Amino acid sequence: MERHSIRILTLFGIAIRLHVSWLFIFVLLTWTFVAHFSRDGRWSNEICWLAGVATSVLFFVSVLLHELAHSVVAMDQGMRVRNIVLFIFGGVAEITEEPRSAGTEFVMAIAGPMMSFAIAASAWGFWWLARGPFEAAAAVALHLAKINMILGIFNLIPGFPLDGGRVLRSMIWGATRDVLLATRWATRAGMGVGFLFMALGVWQFIGGSLFNGLWMVFIGWFLAGAAQSAYSRARLRESVRDRTVRQVTAPPADVVSPEADLASLIYGHILSRHARLVAVVENGGLRGVITLDRIRAVPQRLWPSTRVGEVMLPASEVRAIHPETDLWTAVELMGDGETDWLAVVESDGRFVGILDRENVLQQLEVRSQLGV
Ligand SMILES: [Zn+2]
Repeated sequence: MERHSIRILTLFGIAIRLHVSWLFIFVLLTWTFVAHFSRDGRWSNEICWLAGVATSVLFFVSVLLHELAHSVVAMDQGMRVRNIVLFIFGGVAEITEEPRSAGTEFVMAIAGPMMSFAIAASAWGFWWLARGPFEAAAAVALHLAKINMILGIFNLIPGFPLDGGRVLRSMIWGATRDVLLATRWATRAGMGVGFLFMALGVWQFIGGSLFNGLWMVFIGWFLAGAAQSAYSRARLRESVRDRTVRQVTAPPADVVSPEADLASLIYGHILSRHARLVAVVENGGLRGVITLDRIRAVPQRLWPSTRVGEVMLPASEVRAIHPETDLWTAVELMGDGETDWLAVVESDGRFVGILDRENVLQQLEVRSQLGV
Protein backbone atom coordinates (compact mmCIF):
# COMPACT_ATOMS: atom_id res chain seq x y z
CA MET A 1 0.00 0.00 0.00
CA GLU A 2 2.87 2.32 0.71
CA ARG A 3 3.94 2.16 -2.90
CA HIS A 4 2.12 4.50 -5.29
CA SER A 5 1.06 6.72 -2.42
CA ILE A 6 2.13 10.11 -1.08
CA ARG A 7 2.29 11.30 2.48
CA ILE A 8 0.00 14.28 3.08
CA LEU A 9 0.29 14.79 6.82
CA THR A 10 1.17 13.18 10.14
CA LEU A 11 -1.33 12.77 12.98
CA PHE A 12 -0.48 11.22 16.37
CA GLY A 13 2.80 10.14 14.80
CA ILE A 14 0.99 8.22 12.04
CA ALA A 15 1.75 9.07 8.43
CA ILE A 16 -1.45 9.74 6.50
CA ARG A 17 -1.01 8.77 2.86
CA LEU A 18 -3.05 9.10 -0.32
CA HIS A 19 -2.87 6.21 -2.78
CA VAL A 20 -3.10 7.02 -6.52
CA SER A 21 -6.36 5.07 -6.75
CA TRP A 22 -7.88 7.50 -4.25
CA LEU A 23 -7.88 10.25 -6.88
CA PHE A 24 -10.24 8.20 -9.05
CA ILE A 25 -12.77 7.62 -6.28
CA PHE A 26 -12.51 11.25 -5.11
CA VAL A 27 -13.38 12.56 -8.57
CA LEU A 28 -16.13 9.98 -9.02
CA LEU A 29 -17.73 10.73 -5.64
CA THR A 30 -17.52 14.49 -6.09
CA TRP A 31 -19.22 14.13 -9.46
CA THR A 32 -21.95 11.92 -7.90
CA PHE A 33 -22.53 14.40 -5.05
CA VAL A 34 -22.69 17.39 -7.41
CA ALA A 35 -25.20 15.49 -9.55
CA HIS A 36 -27.23 14.70 -6.42
CA PHE A 37 -27.32 18.33 -5.26
CA SER A 38 -28.22 19.68 -8.72
CA ARG A 39 -31.08 17.22 -9.16
CA ASP A 40 -33.93 19.37 -7.84
CA GLY A 41 -32.52 22.54 -9.43
CA ARG A 42 -32.95 24.65 -6.30
CA TRP A 43 -29.38 25.92 -6.13
CA SER A 44 -27.01 27.66 -8.49
CA ASN A 45 -24.29 25.68 -10.22
CA GLU A 46 -21.61 27.19 -7.95
CA ILE A 47 -23.41 26.16 -4.76
CA CYS A 48 -23.93 22.62 -6.10
CA TRP A 49 -20.24 22.29 -6.87
CA LEU A 50 -19.20 23.74 -3.54
CA ALA A 51 -21.54 21.40 -1.67
CA GLY A 52 -20.38 18.42 -3.76
CA VAL A 53 -16.70 19.04 -3.14
CA ALA A 54 -17.35 19.72 0.55
CA THR A 55 -19.28 16.45 0.93
CA SER A 56 -16.49 14.55 -0.80
CA VAL A 57 -13.76 16.09 1.35
CA LEU A 58 -15.78 15.55 4.55
CA PHE A 59 -16.46 11.98 3.51
CA PHE A 60 -12.72 11.29 3.33
CA VAL A 61 -12.19 13.11 6.62
CA SER A 62 -14.81 10.70 8.05
CA VAL A 63 -12.97 7.69 6.62
CA LEU A 64 -9.75 9.03 8.11
CA LEU A 65 -11.39 9.50 11.53
CA HIS A 66 -12.73 5.93 11.32
CA GLU A 67 -9.20 4.60 10.68
CA LEU A 68 -7.73 6.88 13.35
CA ALA A 69 -10.16 5.39 15.86
CA HIS A 70 -8.79 1.89 15.12
CA SER A 71 -5.23 3.23 15.24
CA VAL A 72 -5.52 5.13 18.51
CA VAL A 73 -6.89 2.03 20.26
CA ALA A 74 -4.10 -0.07 18.70
CA MET A 75 -1.42 2.34 19.87
CA ASP A 76 -2.97 2.47 23.30
CA GLN A 77 -2.53 -1.32 23.40
CA GLY A 78 1.14 -0.95 22.50
CA MET A 79 0.87 -1.84 18.82
CA ARG A 80 2.69 0.09 16.14
CA VAL A 81 0.68 1.79 13.39
CA ARG A 82 2.82 2.26 10.32
CA ASN A 83 0.46 4.49 8.39
CA ILE A 84 -3.09 5.12 7.24
CA VAL A 85 -3.65 4.93 3.51
CA LEU A 86 -6.72 6.30 1.77
CA PHE A 87 -7.39 4.34 -1.39
CA ILE A 88 -10.11 3.35 -3.82
CA PHE A 89 -12.14 1.28 -1.30
CA GLY A 90 -11.85 3.78 1.55
CA GLY A 91 -9.09 3.66 4.08
CA VAL A 92 -6.82 1.17 5.76
CA ALA A 93 -4.68 1.51 8.88
CA GLU A 94 -1.53 -0.56 8.47
CA ILE A 95 -1.01 -1.94 11.95
CA THR A 96 2.18 -3.98 11.97
CA GLU A 97 1.22 -6.38 14.74
CA GLU A 98 -1.75 -8.60 15.36
CA PRO A 99 -3.75 -8.03 18.56
CA ARG A 100 -2.52 -10.21 21.41
CA SER A 101 -5.90 -10.97 22.93
CA ALA A 102 -9.49 -11.38 21.87
CA GLY A 103 -10.51 -8.42 24.05
CA THR A 104 -7.99 -6.11 22.39
CA GLU A 105 -9.12 -7.20 18.95
CA PHE A 106 -12.76 -6.59 19.82
CA VAL A 107 -12.20 -3.03 21.10
CA MET A 108 -9.89 -2.20 18.22
CA ALA A 109 -12.36 -3.47 15.62
CA ILE A 110 -15.47 -1.88 17.09
CA ALA A 111 -13.79 1.54 17.52
CA GLY A 112 -14.01 2.30 13.77
CA PRO A 113 -17.74 1.77 13.23
CA MET A 114 -18.46 3.51 16.56
CA MET A 115 -16.57 6.53 15.25
CA SER A 116 -18.61 6.44 12.02
CA PHE A 117 -21.86 6.31 14.01
CA ALA A 118 -20.66 9.20 16.21
CA ILE A 119 -19.89 11.29 13.11
CA ALA A 120 -23.32 10.39 11.68
CA ALA A 121 -24.98 11.53 14.90
CA SER A 122 -23.05 14.83 15.00
CA ALA A 123 -23.74 15.53 11.33
CA TRP A 124 -27.41 14.78 11.89
CA GLY A 125 -27.39 17.20 14.87
CA PHE A 126 -25.77 19.86 12.69
CA TRP A 127 -28.40 19.31 10.00
CA TRP A 128 -31.17 19.72 12.58
CA LEU A 129 -29.74 23.05 13.79
CA ALA A 130 -28.80 24.44 10.37
CA ARG A 131 -31.66 23.28 8.16
CA GLY A 132 -33.51 26.63 8.29
CA PRO A 133 -30.88 29.35 7.89
CA PHE A 134 -28.07 27.42 6.15
CA GLU A 135 -29.84 25.21 3.66
CA ALA A 136 -26.83 24.07 1.62
CA ALA A 137 -24.65 23.37 4.67
CA ALA A 138 -27.53 21.43 6.21
CA ALA A 139 -27.92 19.36 3.04
CA VAL A 140 -24.20 18.48 3.11
CA ALA A 141 -24.50 17.49 6.79
CA LEU A 142 -27.53 15.30 6.13
CA HIS A 143 -25.73 13.57 3.29
CA LEU A 144 -22.68 13.05 5.50
CA ALA A 145 -24.85 11.60 8.27
CA LYS A 146 -26.34 9.05 5.85
CA ILE A 147 -22.95 8.10 4.37
CA ASN A 148 -21.36 7.58 7.79
CA MET A 149 -24.32 5.51 8.87
CA ILE A 150 -23.86 3.29 5.80
CA LEU A 151 -20.09 3.20 6.38
CA GLY A 152 -20.59 2.04 9.96
CA ILE A 153 -23.14 -0.61 9.03
CA PHE A 154 -21.18 -1.85 5.99
CA ASN A 155 -18.07 -2.27 8.12
CA LEU A 156 -20.00 -4.35 10.63
CA ILE A 157 -20.76 -7.06 8.03
CA PRO A 158 -19.25 -10.09 9.76
CA GLY A 159 -16.63 -11.09 7.19
CA PHE A 160 -12.91 -10.67 7.75
CA PRO A 161 -11.14 -8.27 6.88
CA LEU A 162 -14.13 -5.98 7.50
CA ASP A 163 -14.41 -4.71 11.07
CA GLY A 164 -17.40 -6.96 11.63
CA GLY A 165 -15.23 -9.91 10.62
CA ARG A 166 -12.70 -8.89 13.24
CA VAL A 167 -15.46 -8.61 15.82
CA LEU A 168 -16.62 -12.10 14.83
CA ARG A 169 -13.07 -13.41 15.09
CA SER A 170 -12.55 -11.87 18.53
CA MET A 171 -15.77 -13.50 19.74
CA ILE A 172 -14.89 -16.98 18.44
CA TRP A 173 -11.34 -16.48 19.71
CA GLY A 174 -12.59 -15.47 23.14
CA ALA A 175 -15.00 -18.41 23.29
CA THR A 176 -12.66 -21.13 21.98
CA ARG A 177 -9.21 -19.70 22.93
CA ASP A 178 -8.14 -20.83 19.47
CA VAL A 179 -7.05 -17.91 17.31
CA LEU A 180 -6.43 -20.01 14.21
CA LEU A 181 -9.86 -21.57 14.34
CA ALA A 182 -11.37 -18.11 14.87
CA THR A 183 -9.42 -16.73 11.92
CA ARG A 184 -10.49 -19.64 9.75
CA TRP A 185 -14.17 -18.98 10.41
CA ALA A 186 -13.94 -15.20 10.16
CA THR A 187 -11.98 -15.34 6.90
CA ARG A 188 -14.34 -17.99 5.48
CA ALA A 189 -17.20 -15.65 6.29
CA GLY A 190 -15.17 -12.89 4.58
CA MET A 191 -14.79 -14.97 1.44
CA GLY A 192 -18.52 -15.73 1.57
CA VAL A 193 -19.33 -12.02 1.80
CA GLY A 194 -16.93 -11.34 -1.07
CA PHE A 195 -18.56 -13.96 -3.32
CA LEU A 196 -22.02 -12.69 -2.35
CA PHE A 197 -21.02 -9.18 -3.43
CA MET A 198 -19.67 -10.52 -6.70
CA ALA A 199 -22.87 -12.48 -7.35
CA LEU A 200 -25.04 -9.42 -6.57
CA GLY A 201 -22.81 -7.38 -8.84
CA VAL A 202 -23.24 -9.80 -11.73
CA TRP A 203 -26.99 -9.79 -11.15
CA GLN A 204 -27.08 -5.96 -11.20
CA PHE A 205 -24.88 -5.95 -14.29
CA ILE A 206 -27.25 -8.28 -16.13
CA GLY A 207 -30.17 -6.17 -14.87
CA GLY A 208 -28.69 -3.15 -16.65
CA SER A 209 -26.88 -1.18 -13.92
CA LEU A 210 -23.53 -1.68 -15.54
CA PHE A 211 -21.44 0.60 -13.35
CA ASN A 212 -22.94 -0.41 -10.00
CA GLY A 213 -22.72 -4.05 -11.00
CA LEU A 214 -19.06 -3.80 -11.92
CA TRP A 215 -18.35 -1.86 -8.76
CA MET A 216 -19.96 -4.55 -6.60
CA VAL A 217 -17.97 -7.27 -8.39
CA PHE A 218 -14.82 -5.26 -7.83
CA ILE A 219 -15.51 -4.79 -4.09
CA GLY A 220 -16.43 -8.47 -3.71
CA TRP A 221 -13.26 -9.55 -5.45
CA PHE A 222 -11.20 -7.29 -3.20
CA LEU A 223 -12.89 -8.60 -0.03
CA ALA A 224 -12.53 -12.26 -0.99
CA GLY A 225 -8.86 -11.74 -1.86
CA ALA A 226 -8.15 -9.90 1.38
CA ALA A 227 -9.89 -12.63 3.40
CA GLN A 228 -7.87 -15.32 1.63
CA SER A 229 -4.54 -13.59 2.25
CA ALA A 230 -5.45 -12.83 5.88
CA TYR A 231 -6.00 -16.54 6.37
CA SER A 232 -2.69 -17.56 4.77
CA ARG A 233 -0.97 -15.01 6.95
CA ALA A 234 -2.60 -16.35 10.10
CA ARG A 235 -1.58 -19.88 9.15
CA LEU A 236 1.97 -18.81 8.51
CA ARG A 237 2.01 -16.99 11.80
CA GLU A 238 0.73 -20.07 13.59
CA SER A 239 3.38 -22.26 11.98
CA VAL A 240 6.23 -20.01 13.12
CA ARG A 241 4.88 -19.55 16.64
CA ASP A 242 7.41 -20.19 19.40
CA ARG A 243 10.21 -20.69 16.88
CA THR A 244 13.37 -18.64 16.79
CA VAL A 245 15.45 -17.59 13.82
CA ARG A 246 18.23 -19.96 14.94
CA GLN A 247 15.99 -23.01 14.59
CA VAL A 248 15.48 -22.49 10.88
CA THR A 249 18.81 -20.98 9.85
CA ALA A 250 20.93 -23.63 8.20
CA PRO A 251 24.68 -23.35 8.83
CA PRO A 252 26.16 -21.53 5.84
CA ALA A 253 26.85 -24.09 3.13
CA ASP A 254 28.91 -21.61 1.26
CA VAL A 255 30.81 -18.47 2.16
CA VAL A 256 33.45 -16.54 0.29
CA SER A 257 36.44 -14.49 1.40
CA PRO A 258 36.58 -10.77 0.55
CA GLU A 259 39.92 -11.48 -1.15
CA ALA A 260 38.43 -13.92 -3.70
CA ASP A 261 38.00 -12.63 -7.24
CA LEU A 262 34.60 -12.41 -8.96
CA ALA A 263 35.41 -15.04 -11.60
CA SER A 264 36.14 -17.74 -9.02
CA LEU A 265 33.09 -16.64 -7.00
CA ILE A 266 30.83 -17.07 -10.03
CA TYR A 267 32.21 -20.38 -11.31
CA GLY A 268 33.10 -21.86 -7.92
CA HIS A 269 30.09 -20.79 -5.85
CA ILE A 270 27.22 -19.10 -7.63
CA LEU A 271 26.77 -21.29 -10.73
CA SER A 272 27.57 -24.60 -9.05
CA ARG A 273 25.19 -24.01 -6.15
CA HIS A 274 22.50 -21.96 -7.90
CA ALA A 275 23.03 -19.33 -5.21
CA ARG A 276 21.61 -15.87 -5.74
CA LEU A 277 23.63 -14.43 -2.89
CA VAL A 278 26.74 -15.50 -1.00
CA ALA A 279 27.91 -14.26 2.40
CA VAL A 280 31.35 -12.72 2.53
CA VAL A 281 33.03 -13.92 5.72
CA GLU A 282 36.44 -13.34 7.26
CA ASN A 283 37.59 -14.89 10.56
CA GLY A 284 34.03 -15.97 11.30
CA GLY A 285 32.65 -12.42 11.05
CA LEU A 286 30.30 -11.14 8.34
CA ARG A 287 32.04 -8.61 6.08
CA GLY A 288 29.21 -8.27 3.60
CA VAL A 289 26.99 -10.05 1.11
CA ILE A 290 27.56 -10.40 -2.60
CA THR A 291 24.44 -10.47 -4.76
CA LEU A 292 23.82 -10.96 -8.47
CA ASP A 293 23.00 -7.26 -8.87
CA ARG A 294 26.37 -6.32 -7.44
CA ILE A 295 28.15 -8.69 -9.81
CA ARG A 296 26.16 -7.54 -12.83
CA ALA A 297 27.36 -3.99 -12.23
CA VAL A 298 30.93 -5.09 -13.07
CA PRO A 299 31.81 -5.70 -16.77
CA GLN A 300 32.59 -9.36 -17.45
CA ARG A 301 36.15 -8.74 -18.60
CA LEU A 302 36.96 -7.28 -15.17
CA TRP A 303 35.65 -10.28 -13.23
CA PRO A 304 39.06 -12.05 -12.87
CA SER A 305 40.71 -8.89 -11.54
CA THR A 306 37.94 -7.62 -9.24
CA ARG A 307 37.89 -8.74 -5.63
CA VAL A 308 34.63 -9.61 -3.89
CA GLY A 309 35.40 -7.13 -1.10
CA GLU A 310 35.37 -4.25 -3.59
CA VAL A 311 31.84 -4.77 -4.87
CA MET A 312 29.97 -6.57 -2.04
CA LEU A 313 27.17 -4.97 -0.11
CA PRO A 314 29.12 -4.06 3.04
CA ALA A 315 27.99 -5.56 6.36
CA SER A 316 26.98 -2.10 7.61
CA GLU A 317 24.27 -1.97 4.91
CA VAL A 318 23.11 -5.57 5.30
CA ARG A 319 19.91 -6.12 7.26
CA ALA A 320 20.98 -8.34 10.12
CA ILE A 321 19.03 -10.11 12.83
CA HIS A 322 19.98 -11.91 16.04
CA PRO A 323 19.49 -15.71 16.03
CA GLU A 324 17.29 -15.62 19.15
CA THR A 325 14.78 -13.25 17.54
CA ASP A 326 11.37 -14.85 17.14
CA LEU A 327 10.75 -16.11 13.66
CA TRP A 328 7.57 -14.14 13.07
CA THR A 329 9.46 -10.84 13.44
CA ALA A 330 11.94 -12.08 10.86
CA VAL A 331 9.19 -13.23 8.47
CA GLU A 332 7.53 -9.82 8.73
CA LEU A 333 10.82 -8.03 8.10
CA MET A 334 11.39 -10.15 5.01
CA GLY A 335 7.90 -9.39 3.73
CA ASP A 336 8.12 -5.60 3.93
CA GLY A 337 9.30 -5.23 0.36
CA GLU A 338 12.92 -4.28 1.03
CA THR A 339 14.90 -7.53 0.84
CA ASP A 340 13.48 -11.03 1.20
CA TRP A 341 16.55 -12.24 3.11
CA LEU A 342 18.34 -11.33 6.33
CA ALA A 343 21.82 -12.03 7.64
CA VAL A 344 21.78 -13.83 10.97
CA VAL A 345 24.56 -12.54 13.19
CA GLU A 346 25.42 -13.20 16.87
CA SER A 347 25.85 -10.25 19.26
CA ASP A 348 29.62 -10.69 19.10
CA GLY A 349 29.56 -10.39 15.30
CA ARG A 350 29.89 -14.10 14.48
CA PHE A 351 28.07 -15.01 11.29
CA VAL A 352 25.40 -17.71 11.68
CA GLY A 353 23.83 -17.90 8.24
CA ILE A 354 21.46 -16.29 5.76
CA LEU A 355 17.74 -16.46 6.40
CA ASP A 356 15.86 -16.57 3.13
CA ARG A 357 12.08 -16.15 2.93
CA GLU A 358 11.68 -18.84 0.31
CA ASN A 359 13.76 -21.30 2.35
CA VAL A 360 11.87 -20.60 5.55
CA LEU A 361 8.54 -21.24 3.86
CA GLN A 362 9.81 -24.50 2.31
CA GLN A 363 11.20 -25.66 5.63
CA LEU A 364 7.96 -24.91 7.44
CA GLU A 365 6.05 -26.82 4.77
CA VAL A 366 8.31 -29.87 5.18
CA ARG A 367 8.11 -29.65 8.98
CA SER A 368 4.33 -29.47 8.92
CA GLN A 369 4.17 -32.49 6.63
CA LEU A 370 6.42 -34.44 8.98
CA GLY A 371 4.60 -33.09 12.02
CA VAL A 372 7.81 -31.90 13.70
ZN1 LIG B 1 -12.77 -0.06 10.18
